[in-house]
Amino acid sequence: MRSPIDDYLHQVLQDCRDDDAGDVMSGNRELERADPSSFGIALATVDGAVYTAGDADHEFAMQSIAKLPAYALALRDRGLDGVLDRVDTEPSGDAFNEISLEAETGRPRNALINAGAIAVHGMVDGDSATERVDRIADLVSTLAGRELSIDNDVHSAELASDDHNTALAYLLRSAGKLEYEPDEVVDGYAAQCAIKVSCRDLAIMGSVLANGGLSTTNDDESLLEGWITRHLLSVMATCGMYDGSGSWMAKVGIPAKSGVSGAILGVLPGQVGVAVWSPRLDEQGNSVRGVAVFERLSHDMELHMMHVA
Ligand code: GLN
Repeated sequence: MRSPIDDYLHQVLQDCRDDDAGDVMSGNRELERADPSSFGIALATVDGAVYTAGDADHEFAMQSIAKLPAYALALRDRGLDGVLDRVDTEPSGDAFNEISLEAETGRPRNALINAGAIAVHGMVDGDSATERVDRIADLVSTLAGRELSIDNDVHSAELASDDHNTALAYLLRSAGKLEYEPDEVVDGYAAQCAIKVSCRDLAIMGSVLANGGLSTTNDDESLLEGWITRHLLSVMATCGMYDGSGSWMAKVGIPAKSGVSGAILGVLPGQVGVAVWSPRLDEQGNSVRGVAVFERLSHDMELHMMHVA
């Protein structure tokens, strides 16, 4: 049975469906094949309720949203100071793949642009690239509450067009920020981008972040340390939408992370995780309909963190 909240999400989906601005990600043969009309929404509360509309159970590659679980593991493995030695927590105001390292320290500005995420992937413990990727995929599965897998076609397509990320990895090693082989790190980073999820998975993962790292579907089991959760949400709030992060915070007002497959995960601490997927992207690489849906939900449901009733 559809609840009034499901009905509401269907209505939002219908209202935003006509917007066909933007283009699917180019330069990756698998992402280019995405059906631009795909559109899904899922909302998961800290009480464990999940509401959906449209293609909410359709799987797609996580892309940059996988930067979050990789960051969580690096923080767990190396501690905050260990991670801060190599990656800062400042918004860059630059595009997601900008070659931006701080002049004085050689650190990428934050963990959610590619340079930072590649350095972060290189701080996940593991004896091989496969072990590191498996640990990241396992954490995503734990947070989503089901076994997820890697899309091998997306992984190889990433590698076939990864010169830019490879250049970033070599630059990081020359700045002393990478201990593993750059090519191996780029391979692992490409694999983490290819973890397959649905909007439902992302919303549930978001609800765990909203719940301070405690499971929302299994008796408040602790899945992620509270300090790591708080840190992730803080960096999402300031850097999660790349060079669109400031206008996102002003308009929508919740921590979020986007990926070039067209997904956006938003988290309102203490309340909900929300995920939207629609592959056409704006100039910043954020889903056009995704941003529209979040603006609408933020307005209608008063999700904006700075909103005072
Ligand atoms: N695979 C993409 C890249 O590394 C991920 C970027 C993104 O989702 N913004 O370029």
